[in-house]
Amino acid sequence: MKNPESISVNEDTRLIPVWSIVAAAAAFVLVEYYFWLVLPDQQHHAPPLGLRAYFNISFGLLVSLYFLMVGYVSKDAPRRAMSARFWIALCFVMPGGIGAVLYFLLRQPEVSRCPACSTHVQNDFHFCPQCNYQLTASCGHCFRAVRSTDQFCTQCGHELAADHMPARLRVLGV
Ligand SMILES: [Zn+2]
Ligand SMILES: [Zn+2]
Repeated sequence: MKNPESISVNEDTRLIPVWSIVAAAAAFVLVEYYFWLVLPDQQHHAPPLGLRAYFNISFGLLVSLYFLMVGYVSKDAPRRAMSARFWIALCFVMPGGIGAVLYFLLRQPEVSRCPACSTHVQNDFHFCPQCNYQLTASCGHCFRAVRSTDQFCTQCGHELAADHMPARLRVLGV
């Protein structure tokens, strides 16, 4: 068994990757460039400036939002044991952000990996289903969740200090 202290479960907490921020900024610039400099040459009757500014900027923001969304999905999906590639493809294919809406409706609960065997475990699990590693502090008698600072179980009154130390506090790295 690996030493749990040497493993950090959620090392990368940044949910919007740099590439998608860069892509979003580039997309915004490109959209503005096209709408302000390329498109007016092809139009005979340009709409009033205020309307154009409103339309151009909101469209540019929408396009950048798309890239940020895809970046977010690429980071968020693996945390939920979902296929990032599938959902990114879906976000691109579905028009008008429907893919993104579907993603938020259908996404699975957040999962992390068991520090001992790397199995995907949901955050409400007390024990790893594959290797019995204790993921959260729990009572050694009734196995309900307890706070790591509690002395007695709030459900059954079991004295937590009597529990085998590694079983109760192993997850905290004490
Ligand atoms: Zn495990
Ligand atoms: Zn208990």
